Amino acid sequence: MIRFLIHYGLHFVAPYFIATLYAKHSIQEKYRVYVLFLASMLVDLDHLVSDPVFDPHRLSVGHHFLHSYYALTLYAFALFYKRTRLLAFALIFHMFSDIMDYLLYLIGL
Ligand SMILES: [Zn+2]
Repeated sequence: MIRFLIHYGLHFVAPYFIATLYAKHSIQEKYRVYVLFLASMLVDLDHLVSDPVFDPHRLSVGHHFLHSYYALTLYAFALFYKRTRLLAFALIFHMFSDIMDYLLYLIGL
């Protein structure tokens, strides 16, 4: 249960606080950033071509094509361009959340 709360907290709650820190003075900007973080979860659509679609004992990063190391490299390069920086950060934060979930599984939570 703790693993579930931390994982989905990182996917849904932490982005709210990141958006709040990012856009302190504009509520529209804050929600735009939050929605962008939520939209970054669309990368999980790559699970649909895996069998099984969801495996709680599998590390997504390095397994699915939008979670591959090639994709991560692309996300890292996208950090250098102002237009793609925020989305790239959201995608990298998504990968961090997935890695944290797997690490929690490994330690038995
Ligand atoms: Zn994912």
